[in-house]
Amino acid sequence: MAEPFLPGPVLLLGAPGVGKGTQAQLLMADYGIPQISTGDILRDNIARGTDLGKAAKGLMDQGQLVSDEMVNEMVGARLAQPDVKRGYILDGYPRTIGQAEWLDAHLVSLEQSAGAVVLPLVAVNIRVDEQVLLRRITGRRICSQCKHIYNVYFKAPKREGICDIDGAPLQHRSDDTEAAFTERMKAYHALTAPVIEHYSKQGRFREVDGDRSVEAVTAAIELSLRQLRQVGL
Ligand code: AMP
Repeated sequence: MAEPFLPGPVLLLGAPGVGKGTQAQLLMADYGIPQISTGDILRDNIARGTDLGKAAKGLMDQGQLVSDEMVNEMVGARLAQPDVKRGYILDGYPRTIGQAEWLDAHLVSLEQSAGAVVLPLVAVNIRVDEQVLLRRITGRRICSQCKHIYNVYFKAPKREGICDIDGAPLQHRSDDTEAAFTERMKAYHALTAPVIEHYSKQGRFREVDGDRSVEAVTAAIELSLRQLRQVGL
C-alpha cells in the first residue's frame, strides 16, 4: 500500500481573518499532524492568568504584535514536544522577519541535534480581499471548548451563541473588533507581508485564493502542498 502523503512542516500565512485557523484545523484532521497557533497559545496563557498572558493581553487587545522573543520562546518549547515529529502546521507564526529568521536557524539546529534529515518548511499564503476580511473578523465566534469557528454573517450556529458540536458557549475574541482589525492590518502590512517575500524568494511558497468555500480552499492548499513536496522540497 502506498504511504499516505504527509506534508511535513507547513506555514499558513495570510492577513487576519483569511481562514488560517479554520484551514489549520482541517489540515490537522486530514493529515493527523498538530496545529501550532501562537495566537491560541497566547490566549490560553491569558485564560490561565500566567505572566506571559498578562504581558501579552494589552498588546493583543490593541491589535499589536507581542515581542519576537516571547513568541519565539513559545514556539521553541512547542517544537520540543514529540507530536511534531511527522510534521505540523504553524498558524500565525512567523509574523515578522525576525521570527522567520529565528525559526529558520532553530530548525537547522534541531536537524543537527537530531542527526536526521528533516523536511524543510513550505509556506502557503491565503489571500482574501480586505473588505471581506472585516466581516469575517467582526462576525467570528469561537467555541470555548472545541475551538470550532463560526461566523454570525456567513456560518451561524443553529442556536445563537452555542456550539453545534458540543453545546459549549461561543466566545467573541476581544481583538475581533473593527478598531483592533485596523491595527492588525497595519501590523500585517508593515511586518508580516515581508515574511511572504522571505519564503517566496526561497521558492518554498504557493498562494491560494481564500475567498471561496472552506472546502475549496482546503483542496487548493492540499494541492499546493503536494506540488511543493513533489518538486523535491
Ligand atoms: P491570531 O490568533 O493569530 O490572530 O493572533 C492574535 C494576536 O496574538 C495578534 O494580533 C498578536 O497580538 C498576537 N500574536 C499571535 N501570534 C503572534 C506572533 N507570531 N507574533 C507576535 N504576536 C502574535
